Amino acid sequence: QDLLSYFRKRLKIKRVTLSNRTNKALHQLNYVILATILVLCTLFASYTITGTQLIPGTEEGGFIYRYFSEPFCTICPMKPLCVIIENQIGIFQTEWVFNPTGNFYQLGRFITSINVISLILVSVAALFISRAWCRICPLGGLVGLFSKVPPFKWLTLVQIEKTKQRCTKCGICRRVCPMEIKEVYEQDTGDIMTAQCIGCLHCIEMCPYKDALKFKFAGKTLCHSQDWLIDDIKKEEDQW
Ligand code: SF4
Ligand code: SF4
Repeated sequence: QDLLSYFRKRLKIKRVTLSNRTNKALHQLNYVILATILVLCTLFASYTITGTQLIPGTEEGGFIYRYFSEPFCTICPMKPLCVIIENQIGIFQTEWVFNPTGNFYQLGRFITSINVISLILVSVAALFISRAWCRICPLGGLVGLFSKVPPFKWLTLVQIEKTKQRCTKCGICRRVCPMEIKEVYEQDTGDIMTAQCIGCLHCIEMCPYKDALKFKFAGKTLCHSQDWLIDDIKKEEDQW
């Protein structure tokens, strides 16, 4: 997705910025997708779990059992990329057989047509909207949820800490955030990592005021924002 954003910049295509409302709705959509997938997993595995077949086709050898027993993997847009890498490297599987004339739901052993369609849709979306898939990814939602819900959040080791006294409210952090997270700008102090944060650290890299933002691991500061704007101005002044 970052590569697609890079191409967008090179091609001078304008980035689509989402409204707060749309962005929030997308962030909530990942929980809807997550819940749907969990329900489907439970229904599809009902025979294995309880010995009762809730839906026809979920029995061993049935249609759903054969093709949709892993609902998320069936739609995941990253699956085709993983399969290509796995097969090229040859570490995990070498059995992938690409069959373009195969059924809609299954192209080969490991990817489905739905995977390929998802990948195409996500790639087109990611060309215009930065990190389009990350905004709705149910796995990202799950990880984010674990990092914010007790007791898991007490075990969270990473933090992005904001210091109110150092922040000038210039708004750069929000503008460069690929996930368009508003808390990094709006929250005055403390840990600004939300469940949607992908930890890219662009906000820290681009914040022009020293120590306004700090990345901490287990309480230790690993990196912090720098006075790059003031340094640049000084350099310019020296040149004059
Ligand atoms: S970029 Fe830094 S100084 Fe500017 S609003 Fe964000 S945290 Fe504050
Ligand atoms: S690390 Fe900063 S820029 Fe990256 S997603 Fe999180 S808040 Fe946004």
